[in-house]
Amino acid sequence: MRLVRINVNEESINFEDITKESKYYLLGGRGLSSQIVHDEVYPTCDPLGNKNKLIIASGLLTGSPFPNSGRTSVGGKSPLTNGIKEANVGGRPSMMLASSGIRALILEDLCQNFKLILVDQNEIKFESAEDYKKLGNYELHEKLRKKYGERIGIYSIGPAGEMMLKNATVAANDLEGYPSRHAARGGLGAIMGSKKIKAIVIIPPKGSKVKFHDLKRFRELSKPFTKYLAESREVFSTYGTPLLMKAVSGYGAIPTKSFRMGSYKEIEDISGEKLHELVIARGGKKRIACCPTCAIKCSNIIVDENGNHITSSLEYETMALNGSNCMINDLDSLAKIDHLCDDIGVDTIEFGVTMGVAMDSGKIQWGDAEKVLEILEEIRKGSEIGKLYGNGVCHFGREIGFERIPHVKGQGISGYDARVFKGMSVTYATSPMGADHTAGAVIAGRAAREGRNYGELTDNINKLELSYEIQIFTTVLDSMGVCYFIGPSYSNMELVSKVINAMYGTNLSVEDVINIGKDIIRNEIKFNEKAGITQDMNDLPEFLRKESSDPIKKTVTIPKEDYQKFWKRLDE
Ligand code: SF4
Repeated sequence: MRLVRINVNEESINFEDITKESKYYLLGGRGLSSQIVHDEVYPTCDPLGNKNKLIIASGLLTGSPFPNSGRTSVGGKSPLTNGIKEANVGGRPSMMLASSGIRALILEDLCQNFKLILVDQNEIKFESAEDYKKLGNYELHEKLRKKYGERIGIYSIGPAGEMMLKNATVAANDLEGYPSRHAARGGLGAIMGSKKIKAIVIIPPKGSKVKFHDLKRFRELSKPFTKYLAESREVFSTYGTPLLMKAVSGYGAIPTKSFRMGSYKEIEDISGEKLHELVIARGGKKRIACCPTCAIKCSNIIVDENGNHITSSLEYETMALNGSNCMINDLDSLAKIDHLCDDIGVDTIEFGVTMGVAMDSGKIQWGDAEKVLEILEEIRKGSEIGKLYGNGVCHFGREIGFERIPHVKGQGISGYDARVFKGMSVTYATSPMGADHTAGAVIAGRAAREGRNYGELTDNINKLELSYEIQIFTTVLDSMGVCYFIGPSYSNMELVSKVINAMYGTNLSVEDVINIGKDIIRNEIKFNEKAGITQDMNDLPEFLRKESSDPIKKTVTIPKEDYQKFWKRLDE
């Protein structure tokens, strides 16, 4: 496997072999992107300047038949948080990258004109992208497929990325061809925009360069696990993440009215069950895989009354932050919001949090979906209004002088109220990535180790330990290129150590694999400290400690000091 350094200004391409002796040999995905950011990016640099890098990395297991292993990690210094950032994404291109023998693309420097990078097995070249400027992801992908073939893999930015808005995403095309998968959090699309790379197109390689030390053993380990996932996640496959809508509202933890409440009285109108009925009745699609090896298949396609595609992969977080959080109780409106966010290339979570604050501050009426859609079109145009709303919730709050902002380290809080889901509060407060549920989702049913007492979801019992382990195990999965829906658990760490040994001929113990996760987080914390994002900043917004959530009357009660010293466990 190789690293490919691409200087976008000089248009130079340098291949670096990853040998057994290389420090990168057992690093992929988040592990690799964070290591490169730690080693090569000056921590106080301007995230949109020439010193920042954008790393696009496949995982250590990507390109193998291990279930759900087709994810890409996109990393860099975040324009949103100013700290280290990794956001991972499914879709087509990661497997193609790995099969082409590429572990990571490292984009360096800045250039003047928009370009496209074409990856064709051993050859990587630049083409002009001036004709694609200002295109939304949907039209862009259609044109690229027409020109380079239906089966290409694509990473791209929409207009938001081109304008370097701090809420911009990097899109990847899904298996159906839609630009529905996004490395969404942290504004990484703005880094790609600063480097003027509109898209990276990967031509499907003939054959695969992925090698196995012991393929028979690898298959013996991964096949039964694939079967187990397909059978045990039946309900999740049918309803997908929207199934959480009613459950989280029932707990009193769904963001409602900009985190003033945790339960939404119109939840039936935007529930996962209602969405399921709608999709079936209109002839949309359910149980869709977003990447080739997925065994769970949690995605969906939403169509309108005439059967025309509205959006792909309407997810819980999008529905919660733009639905109950903004008091929008209409599934078609949420599907349109999702479509526009995907097309323009903005993170639906950060955008929904921003709109909630806009409504809370009185700038927009609660529930005004038409206005939300209008604002998205302003973001597409790059108008002053668009810039106000497209640079993240903290920028919006600062500009309008409103202080009650649901964020941690500059990133909007995701779809689980930290006052109620106590383990999630720990992840939000302590993750090097800001308020990011994907860094360690302590939701119902999550137990890092069997037989341990982690209390109830809504109490503080052992939540520091639970979040700590889930954050580390998730970091390992992110580095393998594996979707965390397989479960960030100790037993899956054991499985990962065995499949890595079968693939790479290593002799890793489960503790060795867990130590990989710990080392990655150590590096991320070191980078953040140098960037000015210190452990003293591990906390949640004051209002979550002062205002009790409605209706279950809870506040954040874990002391700030516990969050601040949280990562000392790494060295115990
Ligand atoms: S479980 Fe869902 S998010 Fe994960 S890889 Fe499969 S389709 Fe994608």
